[in-house]
Amino acid sequence: MPEASSDAGGAARRVEELRALIAHHDERYYQLDSPEVTDADYDALIGELRLLEDDHPELESADSPTRRVAGAPSALFSPVEHRSPMMSLDDAFGVDELHAWFDRMARIAPETADAAFVCELKIDGLAMSLVYEDGRLVQAGTRGDGVTGDDVTANVATIAAVPDRLSWPKKRGPRPSVVEVRGEVYMPVSSFEQLNQRQLDAGLKTFANPRNSAAGSLRQKDSRITASRELSFWSYQLGAMDGGPVIASHSDGLELLRQCGLPVDPHVTVVRGTADAEAFCRRWEEHRHDLDYEIDGVVIKLDDLELQRRLGSTSRAPRWAIAFKFPPEERTTKLLRIMVSIGRTGRATPFAVLEPVFVGGSTVGLSTLHNEDQVRLKDVRPGDTVVVRKAGDVIPEVVGPVLSERTKRSRPWHFPEKCPSCGGPLVRLPGESDTFCTNIDCPAQRVQRIVHFASRGALDIEGLGEKRVVQLVEAGLLSDPSDIYSLGAAPLVTLERFGDLSVDNLLGAIEASKARPLSRLLVGLGIRHLGPTGSRALARAYGSLDALMVAELAELAAVEGIGPVIADSVVEFVASGANRRVIDKLRRAGVALVEPGGRAAPGPGGAARAEEVTGGGGAGHAGGGDGALGDELPQTLQGRSVVVTGTVPGYTREEAEEAILARGGKSPGSVSARTWAVVLGTDPGAAKLRKAEELGIPIVEGPRFQELLDGGEIPGS
Ligand code: NAD
Repeated sequence: MPEASSDAGGAARRVEELRALIAHHDERYYQLDSPEVTDADYDALIGELRLLEDDHPELESADSPTRRVAGAPSALFSPVEHRSPMMSLDDAFGVDELHAWFDRMARIAPETADAAFVCELKIDGLAMSLVYEDGRLVQAGTRGDGVTGDDVTANVATIAAVPDRLSWPKKRGPRPSVVEVRGEVYMPVSSFEQLNQRQLDAGLKTFANPRNSAAGSLRQKDSRITASRELSFWSYQLGAMDGGPVIASHSDGLELLRQCGLPVDPHVTVVRGTADAEAFCRRWEEHRHDLDYEIDGVVIKLDDLELQRRLGSTSRAPRWAIAFKFPPEERTTKLLRIMVSIGRTGRATPFAVLEPVFVGGSTVGLSTLHNEDQVRLKDVRPGDTVVVRKAGDVIPEVVGPVLSERTKRSRPWHFPEKCPSCGGPLVRLPGESDTFCTNIDCPAQRVQRIVHFASRGALDIEGLGEKRVVQLVEAGLLSDPSDIYSLGAAPLVTLERFGDLSVDNLLGAIEASKARPLSRLLVGLGIRHLGPTGSRALARAYGSLDALMVAELAELAAVEGIGPVIADSVVEFVASGANRRVIDKLRRAGVALVEPGGRAAPGPGGAARAEEVTGGGGAGHAGGGDGALGDELPQTLQGRSVVVTGTVPGYTREEAEEAILARGGKSPGSVSARTWAVVLGTDPGAAKLRKAEELGIPIVEGPRFQELLDGGEIPGS
């Protein structure tokens, strides 16, 4: 946070500037549902203003955004007057600020030190006041400026979670004539993801986050649009009642709401003392992505309503509650350049080079932009200020540009026509979204093919990562994967960063890799469409590379799990002279070309014809870097999150995860509401299983994993 200016004139100017900026962002956020900056940036502006006002009390003002509830009613809807003000909350960024709040309260009312606190999740949606008269929902109003909100009754009536009638519990005495309920309207993450998928399918711009989509969906003149957006609701406070029972604590108010049939978040917990309240905050900071709704913090409220009354409120927020805010998952930064990387298949992927920014728990400097269409849809340009999002274990993403900060000189980015590595043409096939470098000798592709060959899922050669491979290719020591086995100590030790010890280690790792089974070698060769599963199937069926190389197309296609597409690709690979030369070099180097436990060679193709083809020429698709880990496999699990627990037959943990990634899916280490399916192997993790059951996530038995991979559907559903 910038330091307060010591110069009074400068401070006054900055205060004016900040208030105008904040008013602008409030309008974008509360009225237009289209914020230009992230919440973290907005909070930084408020923080700076607060600091200046503290240092220069003469600049304080009753209508400063630090003193009032932000937002205003809009002209789109009729106004509703709230029975009592709908306030904001004071924030605590971090545990120190949380303790400062506990201390402030204890100075006013010492008994708060070990009082009961209600800990609630801070739902990232928008505040809503529901008024029930004679048990019927008659009015729903947004917070607006805290005193007057928008009447959105027709829209809220479409939300299934909001009951149109209260089921008043008889044991609480006669039903009051008026009951006000406060809570948060939100869009579940799963609905948000589906909505964005529909937008993408229709070639439309996607929504930035569930909060803005919820706010935008609610502020519709046509309630049928709201109804189609699957909004939901959690109640978090019993508001004003005309008549009815005496309620002494906030938690009892929530209990009454539950009894009336209103949804109350089941995670609400009453704790005693500040240590447990802090522990609740820490726990949920870690588990925030386990839910199907976004939370941006924890709200801690004093439970005793009498104590609440004693503490009272400021003009903006109650003193008896605090919002403990989680670290931001969205930040803005500068997009310095858009560059293109070339994969081993020749695929040219645009990516953003960012001014490094700490977001979602790590520093992000690069982010993929996927393909040409994505860059155009997001309309991101070099020089833009962009919003970067990183949520949990999801890869960082550029959400979009901050248009208000775009300069006049800014121009759209165009996909380069030439490969940045070899200068060859970049070609986009009609009807496809990907662009390719078609030069098989492209150095970038060569590097990626070798890196892939040495990677963990393939020949697993430790110490042969991308940096080293680039160095070795540039030094003229490697040009295809088989050259790895000709590397000797003498030229290596002359290279930078190759000390004696590391050369010994590398050569040892290379030697050890010669014994890897055929299935791993097949992965490493990068045959189009052939992933780890298919490689294992072929290695088991044929037992040796020699037998596999003479197999007929129809035989290959008949192997379980292979089929005509992969079979065709294998035949094409084998027919290539360049590929045969690589295989010959591997053989001469002593690489095992057999599968232990596989069918003994000769395989189904018969040994007799092996001689006919070895050393033969043949044109066709050379290079063979394509698709071993399946970036060209059917993307059956596109965007889906599949968690594997326990050992799945025929796979190591890594192989199972790779198989999911290769089909466009994600395979995080823990189950959350975003998990689409859980694959259950032997010795599964009890916690994962319990969580999956709790959340009702489909469970796929290990032996049906392949069906899931192939079909992209839950087997048997
Ligand atoms: P707030 O969101 O920090 O806290 C108050 C709100 O929390 C309540 O109105 C209610 O809607 C919500 N809430 C969720 N769960 C709750 C629970 N269990 N109990 C009580 N309330 C709960 O404060 P605010 O005044 O509504 O908004 C300020 C915040 O909004 C900023 O800190 C910023 O994050 C965001 N904002 C962003 C921009 C932008 O341009 N990005 C602009 C304005 C505001």
